[in-house]
Amino acid sequence: MTSRFPVDEKKLMNVLRSLIEINSVNPYLSHDGPGESEIAEYIQGVLQGMNLEVHTQQLTDKAVNVIGIWRGTGGGKSLLLNGHTDTVGVSNMQIPPFVAEVREGRVYGRGSCDMKGSLAAMILAVDTLQRTGYQPAGDVILTFVADEEYKSIGTEALVKSYSADAAIVCEPSDLTAVVAHKGFVWITVEVHGKAAHGSRPAEGIDAIVKAGKLLAELETLSRDLERKQHPILGVPSIHASLISGGTEISTYPDYCRIELERRTIPGEQLVDVTVELDALFRRLKEADDQFQASYEITFVREPFEISDDAPIVQTLQSAYRNYFGEEQLIAGFSGWADSSLIHEAGTPTVIFGPYGAGLHGAVEYVDFDSVVQMTSILAGVIRSFCQGEK
Ligand SMILES: [Zn+2]
Repeated sequence: MTSRFPVDEKKLMNVLRSLIEINSVNPYLSHDGPGESEIAEYIQGVLQGMNLEVHTQQLTDKAVNVIGIWRGTGGGKSLLLNGHTDTVGVSNMQIPPFVAEVREGRVYGRGSCDMKGSLAAMILAVDTLQRTGYQPAGDVILTFVADEEYKSIGTEALVKSYSADAAIVCEPSDLTAVVAHKGFVWITVEVHGKAAHGSRPAEGIDAIVKAGKLLAELETLSRDLERKQHPILGVPSIHASLISGGTEISTYPDYCRIELERRTIPGEQLVDVTVELDALFRRLKEADDQFQASYEITFVREPFEISDDAPIVQTLQSAYRNYFGEEQLIAGFSGWADSSLIHEAGTPTVIFGPYGAGLHGAVEYVDFDSVVQMTSILAGVIRSFCQGEK
């Protein structure tokens, strides 16, 4: 026996198309990106029309969070749904980014899958339940945040003021329940040498060649990291992303700068990363007393993991089962998402969203049927998690 909620598909499509038609490119990623003000204003209007309690958090002149609360009648558990309103840039796109063309069940445009389909589903999940006459006992908190694609200032501000008994981050997940993702650490390394005329090797220390010793060691470190394994996410990793150094061809370079990225798996802490870097730098220094280098951690995002047994995961899985009559797949993301911030702040979080393709790519679309399915499943989650009547 399956049970499905009567989603107003026409309204869902209208909201989705309106969201895509509003350019909300993150200005920190593309200098001509207008930011999230206009899309936030549109969402506010929709939420007010549904009689939700609407709050905003102004983050910068271009970035604003919108929060819509469907107040519960009391005594039930609260649920927070989260989606980001910004998108990446459009310069690499091969389709009109803000037209929301519909073809063969797909809705095209920048942000259609990442993640305006999900924003529409969050709104319509509440709309669907309202039309059945249901009243939640716990609060349903819809959160539309800015800047996920850059530094997540939206969710960082959100979790300072809003929490719930559980959360769903509605990033596209092919309708799987995503229970884990990797974190990352950004590291800047400075290697020092000694400048000298290219013809006087005795006087110079080549900072670039010394940096090469460090780079060669990264392969060994990567192999060591492969001994750690996460059942869903696989192995942690480290790679060099950027390098610069030197002044001119006939001079020994006195400086080389390398930027590294270390991807972490659940269970790894920042201290694990600094311990392995300290050991690596010590080894290089012991082998070569002219090796002079230091590193600095410039940015950290924690990995995320929730147990399959957590009530929100169980509720999502049973809502999925009620819809499809079969078990939902459990999965992981290799990339990072706002889920880590919400979960770390104390609200148990799972990720669930629709199908699509071309995220950040040339041709982005969301599969509309999967947005309808997601909407109905979200309605099911709200109904059983927040309890309430009818
Ligand atoms: Zn996203």
